[in-house]
Amino acid sequence: MRLLESAGPRLERSGAGAAARVAPPTEQRCRASQRIREIRPVSRTDLCAAAGAEARLACAVEPIVVRGAACDIASMRSVAWFTVYALAVLAPLLVASVVRGPSWNDFRAGFGAASGWIAFALFALEFGLVTRVRAAAAAFGSDALLLFHRAMGITALGFAALHVLVVSPEPSSWFAGASLQRSGLLALLAALALIVTSVWRRELRWSYELWLVAHRGLAVALVVLLAWHLAPFAREGPLFALVATYTTLALGALFAQRALRPAVLAQREWELVENRDEGARTRTLVLKAVGHDGLRFAPGQFVWLATACTGLVAQEHPISIASSPELDGGRTLELAIKALGDWSSVAVPALQPGARVRIDGPFGAFTPDTCAAARLVLVAGGIGVTPMRSILLAMRDRGDRRPVTLFFAARCRATAMFADELERLQNELALEVVFVFEEPAPGERCETGLLSAELLRRRLPADLRFTHVFVCGPAPMMELFERLAHELGLPPSQVHTERFDMV
Ligand SMILES: Cc1cc2nc3c(=O)[nH]c(=O)nc-3n(C[C@H](O)[C@H](O)[C@H](O)COP(=O)(O)OP(=O)(O)OC[C@H]3O[C@@H](n4cnc5c(N)ncnc54)[C@H](O)[C@@H]3O)c2cc1C
Repeated sequence: MRLLESAGPRLERSGAGAAARVAPPTEQRCRASQRIREIRPVSRTDLCAAAGAEARLACAVEPIVVRGAACDIASMRSVAWFTVYALAVLAPLLVASVVRGPSWNDFRAGFGAASGWIAFALFALEFGLVTRVRAAAAAFGSDALLLFHRAMGITALGFAALHVLVVSPEPSSWFAGASLQRSGLLALLAALALIVTSVWRRELRWSYELWLVAHRGLAVALVVLLAWHLAPFAREGPLFALVATYTTLALGALFAQRALRPAVLAQREWELVENRDEGARTRTLVLKAVGHDGLRFAPGQFVWLATACTGLVAQEHPISIASSPELDGGRTLELAIKALGDWSSVAVPALQPGARVRIDGPFGAFTPDTCAAARLVLVAGGIGVTPMRSILLAMRDRGDRRPVTLFFAARCRATAMFADELERLQNELALEVVFVFEEPAPGERCETGLLSAELLRRRLPADLRFTHVFVCGPAPMMELFERLAHELGLPPSQVHTERFDMV
């Protein structure tokens, strides 16, 4: 058994290869503490670092015990997922090169075919990347998966264009009218439309909802067109099976997401018990589980919320959970929503107690539960404070006394939601709240202006080796912090971000 000084809950291992588990602290009284905890992987680097810091931190934090050797489960999972993905991208190409061997002697034809098979696999796998597979989201984070989805979409378009240019360099042949050319050209146009409308959605002034409908429609059209295009090449048994499998999995993933999942969630509804005006154009929805045992989540995670469900179709919005996972054993959730568009400004305030809503989740890797940090720094901008509130309330409920600093940037106190509550939490946690207001009232105790490296350096200890930083706020703040983290010498493994503007 290895002893490790750090703060927070007790970590223990169960069996070879198992992830570190967090056992509830003895003083924790709430119901959730009696339940088995989620598996919480801890990185080897974190643990070694924290072990080295033992002596220096002993007086600042409470002890935790880590049994057995910890391993970097999170990065192992990421590597495993990535390997599966890479194999899936290459599989059609490998099978085609075995089945259609002789034609590959011609370099040009072989290169053209290879780029085509890779484009097909990449496009088909795009469906899987946005299917909300929780294990994948936990390994990478949902926003990272979406960024990857976008990058792979653009890459696939590149391969498709390369395929066309190599196989049919003569533009006149594109419009020859044969089924092969027609299906290929239509697929390329659908892919182009998908990418253009996604990358330049805001410039095109498309609402998110319009874009989503068009995106799904174009994606289905693309996969069907690709299957049509590939049909003449896939007469051989293995190739036919491969194209059919990829097409079915892609469309099946969409069907599962849009039809089966809502049907399951309809059996696990939540009831609105309070719709609280929090000020700062923010409403807090207090939700109770109806006839089920609620949600097990890690503080900092988010859910997809559907407030208006018509049959099986629902418009969903990603919202961070603002309450503690220990509140009522996960049977009560609080979601704080800022009025930013038509749904959040009109539909959310109009919700009346008694209304039923659906929740899909939890998702995301933005949580301190997966790292053994000795100190936490939370950086929030505006409504980005919601996951921070959940993290701090969880620390309070779990008796976690690790030092934590919250930098909360807002225009002024009136726009800083939960400001009073966060200040009060300073009495219950080893917490320092640093408000950073652009327009503070005269005499206000806060930092003035915007977050800066100078401000962070002044308010943080010089040694940040055992510190993990969590950042959530508007896009410009996130970009600023990425630069500041570099200036402060924080390695990427210690910086965790959540982007509210994923699309
Ligand atoms: C992981 C995550 C957690 C979030 N947590 C919170 C939170 O705790 N509190 C909060 O107020 N906001 C949160 N948001 C932002 C919230 O999802 C959007 O503000 C909300 O969906 C806006 O919808 P709207 O129709 O009112 O506004 P619109 O004007 O229609 O949309 C504003 C922007 O929000 C995004 N958006 C809109 N609808 C969706 C959707 N269905 N799915 C994904 N993105 C969408 C788009 O980027 C859009 O440009 C979070 C976003 C993400 C990605």
